[in-house]
Amino acid sequence: MFFFKRKHPKPTIIPREEHIISRKNIDEDALKVLYRLVDRNHEAYLVGGSVRDLLLGRAPKDFDVGTDARPNEIRRIFRNCFLVGRRFRLAHIVFGKKVIETATFRRAPQPTDVADEHGLYQTEDNTFGTPAEDALRRDFTVNGLFYDIKTFAIIDYVGGLKDLKAKLIRSIGDPAIRFQEDPVRMMRAVRFAAKLGFEICANDVKAIRKYAPTLANASVSRLCEEIQRLFVRGATERSIRLAHDYGLLAVLLPELDAWISTSGTNANALWRALGALDRFAADHEVSPALSLALLYGPMAAELMGKRASGKRGNERFARRQAAEKALAPAVKQYRLPRAVWMTAADIFELAPRFSQPPCEEVTRDVRFLNHPLFPECFAGAQVIAALGLLPTDHLSAWEAAYRRNGPPARQAPGEEAPPAPNPHRRRFRRRRRGGNRKPSAQPAEA
Ligand code: ATP
Ligand code: MG
Repeated sequence: MFFFKRKHPKPTIIPREEHIISRKNIDEDALKVLYRLVDRNHEAYLVGGSVRDLLLGRAPKDFDVGTDARPNEIRRIFRNCFLVGRRFRLAHIVFGKKVIETATFRRAPQPTDVADEHGLYQTEDNTFGTPAEDALRRDFTVNGLFYDIKTFAIIDYVGGLKDLKAKLIRSIGDPAIRFQEDPVRMMRAVRFAAKLGFEICANDVKAIRKYAPTLANASVSRLCEEIQRLFVRGATERSIRLAHDYGLLAVLLPELDAWISTSGTNANALWRALGALDRFAADHEVSPALSLALLYGPMAAELMGKRASGKRGNERFARRQAAEKALAPAVKQYRLPRAVWMTAADIFELAPRFSQPPCEEVTRDVRFLNHPLFPECFAGAQVIAALGLLPTDHLSAWEAAYRRNGPPARQAPGEEAPPAPNPHRRRFRRRRRGGNRKPSAQPAEA
């Protein structure tokens, strides 16, 4: 009887003295997980984005572990472990608020594997694999590296080290196949290129341009998540530009994409706004609402401009309308959280308040300074001022007034995020015409 052994690539092994990853830079709880698994005679590697980031000298966002222990074995080893996921059982090992995601090595589903009616592969045995198979099923070469806690060596089955040095995002395997398997990988390519300052290799770019329309087949929840991740801290301008250039934005946010393509020089305002947001992010927290306000601000400003030539009337009301109109398609398509898009519209609506100095004798200004939305509106004004669209001298007056009059427990805007207020109470209330009526039983519609 003949046994056909599957061919695995031979890994390149980089010993400890030839790379920069030190245990000092690895999260202590991730180390605990790795050591405990190894003590119980399992293989355990640090995997994915954390190895990539450590090799680049960046602080990883999270630390993931790959092991040959099966999910139930992991659960028996760690009391603080929860198994999650339907398609693949992942172990979440919890340390306070931190989660170390620990996954059994697995291989990519084969065409012969049987999917259930939802297209999910449920037979556990046919998904587990060897470390080599686990490396090959990952998305990009730079994300397929392993760090071995026993030898402190890097194990590279996919040519990730070479691409890391060349600053290249390259799919593992044929990009045309990998992007058809999972179209969200195209957005991931753009995100990693922007985040790491890398180029996407020519073959992958060709495949992205070809398969961008298939992104529409991904689930709304995954797309929504990936759109948020496109606001790469400090590199949003590049990620949105790449998404636009490669045809991904046309599928994700078609109205915004069409506006960029047709508005001529007005689109420059968008790139300048996102550039200012990236510089602002160097020493401030950036909320999703602020990112959204700047992404749609220039488009809303153009809508305002069109109106100004026709109608006259309440300027603030018109700004609100323009912001809500610009945001409406994305809000509808992705069911964006109300608190986020309302705050984005508030930031746009209230920006002109900062073109006048604050008057601490005026109740309206004191109320504004005490409002939970003030820090976000102020952050928005700072970015808009950096674009030269608001005077900066009034901004320092507003900041000083906030220190004197703002809520006592809070720091200056930008220093510390205020406690999240109840989103239903966050709106700036306009005075009701009919005095204090009973609140309506129906929630206000957008
Ligand atoms: P980040 O620092 O932004 O979290 P990351 O590389 O850690 O980047 P994650 O989304 O946390 O990205 O995924 C962890 C790892 O899982 C990736 O590095 C990659 O190896 C693998 N992975 C994630 N999503 C996919 C996918 N769609 N297809 C193949 N592999 C994936
Ligand atoms: Mg990660």
